[in-house]
Amino acid sequence: MEIKNQLLKDIYDLARSRDPHKPEFHQALKELLVSLHPVVEKQPQLCSRGVLERLIEPERLIQFRVAWRDRSGETRVNRGYRVQFNSAIGPYKGGLRFHPSVNSSVIKFLGFEQTFKNSLTGLPLGGAKGGADFDPHGKSDDEIMSFCQSYMSELFRHIGASTDVPAGDIGVGNREIGYLYGQYCRLMNISEGAMTGKGIFAGGSLLRTEATGYGLCYFAEEMLTRLRQTSLEGKKVVISGSGNVAIYAVEKAQALGARVIAVSDSDGYIADEEGIDLPLLKQIKEVERLRIKEYKQRKPSAVYVEGSEGIWDIPCDVAMPCATQNEISKESAEKLIRNGLIALLEGSNMSCTAEAVQLIGEEDVLYVPAKAANAGGVAVSGLEMAQNAGRASWSYEKVDRMLQDIMCSIFDKCLSASEEYGARGNLLVGANIAGFLKVAKAMQWQGVV
Ligand code: NDP
Repeated sequence: MEIKNQLLKDIYDLARSRDPHKPEFHQALKELLVSLHPVVEKQPQLCSRGVLERLIEPERLIQFRVAWRDRSGETRVNRGYRVQFNSAIGPYKGGLRFHPSVNSSVIKFLGFEQTFKNSLTGLPLGGAKGGADFDPHGKSDDEIMSFCQSYMSELFRHIGASTDVPAGDIGVGNREIGYLYGQYCRLMNISEGAMTGKGIFAGGSLLRTEATGYGLCYFAEEMLTRLRQTSLEGKKVVISGSGNVAIYAVEKAQALGARVIAVSDSDGYIADEEGIDLPLLKQIKEVERLRIKEYKQRKPSAVYVEGSEGIWDIPCDVAMPCATQNEISKESAEKLIRNGLIALLEGSNMSCTAEAVQLIGEEDVLYVPAKAANAGGVAVSGLEMAQNAGRASWSYEKVDRMLQDIMCSIFDKCLSASEEYGARGNLLVGANIAGFLKVAKAMQWQGVV
């Protein structure tokens, strides 16, 4: 993937010289810039007043110490982050990730991507992301609570219902949001929608838990119908991960008639030709919080294989990576293509390496980047904010209809932008351009700030 325009090349070089040690951020930035040359050529005025230079620089990047005590009374120290990337179209919005791999490069790439994803939803949401290099695996409930309270003891001063509204991501689910939000309310002496993904009994929205996985499948269904005159019905689907996004992608894909034959975690994967047993998967991952290999113990006809990347050796029609960034290498993409892949939708952020994206782009495979495919989560978070602001509580059916409409409209935006800018059907180019246009126009309109 080469950047064709000199202005865009200069922006990329500037970012790399300023932050030489942020490879994930460079990767996300390059993927965007590669798509933007027709915009720069057709509408150079959109890039005047340093829009691109401003766009690659977060408005604020906060790094802080998170000190907490483990079960044996030992003091532990982690590093916390929040990047408030861009607020041109609304309050900062983006999840929190607790995982040992979190560093400022990962947070910066996620916050950058979030800016364009939020733009695509059509909702007034700016881009942000945060987290910590904390590993929740194997921690007791009390340790998780202690960590979350300490993390929020710094974060609370930077967020608020109209300022910055965090949500979950890897390692931050309903339990962690509860502890974080509880501490926020206590410190601020206020109960307001400063976080999304809240419990239904505390101002949360119905369908937020399911939203990212369901949205991924709604996008897939719309795309397959409109671009291939087919649907998920009867398709063999492989979904990596077994967390929030993966579980609800399995649920909706099955409801739409697909046969989901594999899921994974970071240790290995389960292949179940009969189709993944969803109640069993939920029991193991959501209730008992065990490793995925436990599935094999309870369903001996399934196969368990150590090592998570092998999941892409399994022949399938549709691949939905839902674990983490760069989980699909060039070699995995080659195997998927050789095995007859029709479509790949990124449930995880930046699921594919740059080489894998390039390879898939050369083939007749429908490829949907994360900023379009997994936008359902933040979209329903936006709906949660609207309900909180209006002191309202909408029905499951209403939120589900709105989610479907938003995912179909994201598909429309990506397709139209791809057509208008000379890359018909290239949803990567379409998503990047459509996401960028709204943010760039808002930044131009507000002047140099
Ligand atoms: P969870 O923590 O619920 O689940 C993550 C899953 O991915 C787990 O099964 C985990 O396995 C696996 N995983 C994590 N890191 C790795 C790794 N390095 N290698 C292999 N497997 C790994 O997170 P979510 O489901 O919420 O998030 C998954 C992805 O979806 C992330 O990329 C996130 O940014 C993206 N996303 C999430 C949204 C949401 O609403 N939650 C919204 C939009 C995007 P293990 O337990 O072994 O670590």
